[in-house]
Amino acid sequence: MNNDKIFINGLWIDSDSDNFIDVTCPSDGQVFTRIPSGNARDIDLAVNAARASLKGEWGQMVPADRGRLMLKLSALISADAENLAQIEARDTGKPMTQARADIASCARYFEFYGGAADKIHGETIPYLKEYFVSVIREPHGVTGHIIPWNYPAQMFGRTLAPALATGNATVLKPAEEACLSCLRITELANEAGFPPGAINVVTGYGTIAGAALTAHPGLDFVSFTGSPVVGTLVQTASAQFHRPCVLELGGKSPQIIFSDADFDAALPVVVAGIVQNGGQTCSAGSRVLVQRDIYDDFIGQLGARISNLRVGSHQQDLNCGPLISAKQRALVQGFVAQAEKDGLPRIAQATLDTGAPVDGFYVQPALYGPVPEGNPLAQKEVFGPILAAIPFEDEADAIRIANGTDFGLIAGVWTADGKRQMRVAKALRCGQVFVNNYGAGGGVELPFGGVKHSGHGREKGFSALHEFTVTKTIVFKHD
Ligand code: NAP
Ligand code: MG
Repeated sequence: MNNDKIFINGLWIDSDSDNFIDVTCPSDGQVFTRIPSGNARDIDLAVNAARASLKGEWGQMVPADRGRLMLKLSALISADAENLAQIEARDTGKPMTQARADIASCARYFEFYGGAADKIHGETIPYLKEYFVSVIREPHGVTGHIIPWNYPAQMFGRTLAPALATGNATVLKPAEEACLSCLRITELANEAGFPPGAINVVTGYGTIAGAALTAHPGLDFVSFTGSPVVGTLVQTASAQFHRPCVLELGGKSPQIIFSDADFDAALPVVVAGIVQNGGQTCSAGSRVLVQRDIYDDFIGQLGARISNLRVGSHQQDLNCGPLISAKQRALVQGFVAQAEKDGLPRIAQATLDTGAPVDGFYVQPALYGPVPEGNPLAQKEVFGPILAAIPFEDEADAIRIANGTDFGLIAGVWTADGKRQMRVAKALRCGQVFVNNYGAGGGVELPFGGVKHSGHGREKGFSALHEFTVTKTIVFKHD
């Protein structure tokens, strides 16, 4: 595999920097390979290659042919799924079952958007007499993509597939902590026959390669997923060029459990919503809001389930893997230490399997509660498997608490009352609401994105096709 090269203009080449970054397996803490530390010159080359491709074969390709290429890539990803899952699991530490699901999701993105490529059309508008007006959708041009380490393969599909379907030329800066699956999928894209310059990938540090990409004057659009702090930097850089961007910045998503909720349906989904990917999911259900009269009963059952979870390496494929890095583990341990210092009752904690390698970056999933609304555990994105339980009195109280953080990404509502389902879904300030289910991560068809500090713009679904295009209104006069 070409993981010591960067991919520009259809070729695997050496980075200008001659520097490399060690790649560590989170399951055992051991370095097993390295990737290039791309620099501003690499980024410049990549952006220029993308720009040139818009005037070349890629820019001339008709939508149906773009779609066929994407379907071919989807099939190649599916055919290589087990290998890709192994790569992803070793790089991120995620359990094999999760890694396999992520690869299937990546293939699905290319299938969905490949199928959509020739179905994106504009409209005509009735206007004055003797006028004909059409509104067409055009690609932005060169799009920059910066993605995090939590779901590298899924993010590759989520952000690149709609950009390519709509005819943009792309430059990707994957996360330095985990990008090997992205490099393998890039090899497959090359094999599928994407013309040179349509996809360019430069690995490296965010502060060097990422910052160079967002500061590059040759970009027309940026898609960023990651932390709110870096999101602000990306938006500030984009503002220098009045350049649009989509930002997906995480959340503090609530699961709201009303007294009439079906416990058996809700409990496994609430557990999965915080344990999936070790809680390192932007849409993790990291707060569970429970109506007071069922609080003890529900939380008792939830605690029992969390106590039964087992944590281990990606190969052990248990309920929860390690976190991505020692740094991320220290961040999460900081939240845990603060919770203990604040005297928050720890209701339950999962067990670290004895077979887990000692140098892995493990954190045991835990449930704390009742957590006061203003406590950091109820307000801040932990990005680890730590769940905060918060009691509420009635519907109005639930809505107030649910909306009472800086974030607004997704929410789960558990109640049998149909009218309440609709009222609460409408009252929540966020980008997705799941009623009697919860969809952390999945659902290519479903428009996804946040409000407030969770970011703006939408990816997934047909919304992404609108996000990655810009309309042009053409007004004809005839007599
Ligand atoms: P991050 O720093 O925001 O990283 C996201 C991406 O941005 C990575 O590719 C990163 O590169 C890049 N980047 C970093 N600094 C940059 C800059 N100045 N200009 C342009 N790009 C830059 O996030 P993180 O440090 O990996 O994680 C920190 C916290 O962010 C987590 O604890 C979590 O709360 C949140 N987070 C949210 C999501 C989400 O899905 N919404 C995903 C990941 C993290 P490098 O990898 O090289 O730094
Ligand atoms: Mg890694």
